[in-house]
Amino acid sequence: MNGQFDGDYLFKKLTGKKVPIKVALLDQSIVAGIGNIYASESLFEAGISPLRESASLSRKECRRLAEAVRLTLNKAIEAGGSTLKDYRKPDGSEGYFQHLHCVYNKTGQQCPNCTCNINRTGGIKRIVQAGRSTFYCPTKQK
Ligand SMILES: [Zn+2]
Repeated sequence: MNGQFDGDYLFKKLTGKKVPIKVALLDQSIVAGIGNIYASESLFEAGISPLRESASLSRKECRRLAEAVRLTLNKAIEAGGSTLKDYRKPDGSEGYFQHLHCVYNKTGQQCPNCTCNINRTGGIKRIVQAGRSTFYCPTKQK
């Protein structure tokens, strides 16, 4: 990610874009260096639905999202990089890094710091966009 990446930059890049914001985040010409996991995590952090049309995001939402992307990537770097698929401890238990994910691979679970009632909402949802998994909370992310 270059130093120019901020809300105003993102807002400009998304102008006229019809694809869902999650798909736009994976476009390396818009945001370099964000992978599939962190696209979901950033949208959760920003409280923005992955289904929103990119061009529908306000400047304010773009600022929130840009900040969330930075935060999420910094958190990942501090934790020693991504963790992606199958990080497992030698004893076979789930790796530490996965616990840093809020929504990724957590279908049906309660999301952290969220008011959603999973008995009613079913918790974190998984959908497929452009062939990739997206995880999100329909309650928190609008
Ligand atoms: Zn939630």
